[in-house]
Amino acid sequence: MEAQTIAGIATWGAGSWPGDRGVHHPSSLVGRHGRGSEDDLGRVRVGLETGEFELHFQPRVNMCTGAILGAEALIRWRHPERGLLSPGDFLPLIEGGPLVVELGEWVITRALAEMERWREEGIDLPVSINIDALQLQQAQFVERLTAILAAFPGIPASRLELEVLESRALEDIAQVSAVIRACSRLGITFALDDFGTGYSSLSYLKRLPVDVLKIDQTFVLDMLDDPEDLTILEGILGLAKAFRRQAVAEGVETVDHGLMLLRLGCQVAQGFGIARPMPGAEVPDWIAEWRPDPRWTNVSAVAQAHWPLLYASVEHRAWISEVENYVHGRSDARPAMDHHHCRFGSWLDAEASAGRGDHTAFQVMDALHQQLHGFADGVLNQAIARDRGPAMASLRELLTLRDGMLERLQYFVQTL
Ligand code: C2E
Ligand code: MG
Ligand code: MG
Repeated sequence: MEAQTIAGIATWGAGSWPGDRGVHHPSSLVGRHGRGSEDDLGRVRVGLETGEFELHFQPRVNMCTGAILGAEALIRWRHPERGLLSPGDFLPLIEGGPLVVELGEWVITRALAEMERWREEGIDLPVSINIDALQLQQAQFVERLTAILAAFPGIPASRLELEVLESRALEDIAQVSAVIRACSRLGITFALDDFGTGYSSLSYLKRLPVDVLKIDQTFVLDMLDDPEDLTILEGILGLAKAFRRQAVAEGVETVDHGLMLLRLGCQVAQGFGIARPMPGAEVPDWIAEWRPDPRWTNVSAVAQAHWPLLYASVEHRAWISEVENYVHGRSDARPAMDHHHCRFGSWLDAEASAGRGDHTAFQVMDALHQQLHGFADGVLNQAIARDRGPAMASLRELLTLRDGMLERLQYFVQTL
């Protein structure tokens, strides 16, 4: 039987991530073909031998309680000529070669050394380490890991989590699962990274005994504007719940991203809106000072029956952008959305027929929603009739109407 999938979008590539603190984004060292030349590989090796690589750490938190749950180790190359480089600028150079294993072992050792230093300051912080699938597939991986851990007797193996990219974990699922099981006997936990970008298959998930699903940041970043990404997120959270795995969201850049996740029932997250990756020495001060955004405290999950309310703002914002694009001539496709057929409309209808449509707030919301759809139809008809002046004026009114409805929706969601 074909594996069931919820998403199949590959995202991670050779590019660097925008906005990382202190990371320059020079023209990448990675050529068109990804792999590095002998010179490039030699340069990476020299960098490794002369201490040019460093680890930065990005905290993982519970947005609701403010608990700091751990940190992810992210490699950087402090290149003498090119400045601080992101992994996307140099990891593809060594992909598939023996340096992957050498650099990977350096990362594990460095992370454990940092954890030991934090312990001296009374900080016991679990660390997640990204492991290349090639390293994981080495025959000696578990033995090597055990030997490295033995050099840090003060750090329990249970404080370590290994992250493997979902797409790469599927390359040899039997072997990867065997390694995961062997590591779990040592107490080490596993996360599937960039979850949602591989096959996100139910049958694969059943066979991969990971503890954590890290939701790929692209879905999180776009979920406030794109209903499809919100749907993918809903699917991933459903999978995590069904398989009793913890969901961790990546890419929480703003308070609103965090709010939406909390309402969907996902409390654990990482992202620039919480903290950017930072050198290990800065972590203790960050821990001492960080407080979650006050808008995150006491936000509880919205019952699934009311999720159409969460979709409503995303769906209407996306739909009205389509109307805008049509009116401005940026798109030829006439946006269609009957007010009974949008998710929010269906929810309003269901609430009304279940006899819950009596209170005033509900009726105001229903009227505003119908008005918005009716008005949008009018704007589209003016645009079709090439009444450009009136269409532009109506569009401005439509945007005001939309903002009014989104504001009321926010209020409505808060009162659930
Ligand atoms: P990843 O493991 O998914 O790590 C998250 C990446 O997203 C990091 O980029 C982080 O800086 C970035 N990020 C975190 N929060 C946000 C946010 O709110 N918005 C945006 N736009 N980005 C955010 P970074 O450090 O450039 O790493 C990229 C990828 O390189 C990592 O993705 C991981 O797959 C790989 N990588 C990093 N360090 C290592 C390592 O030591 N070993 C291996 N094998 N791979 C590594
Ligand atoms: Mg990761
Ligand atoms: Mg990721």
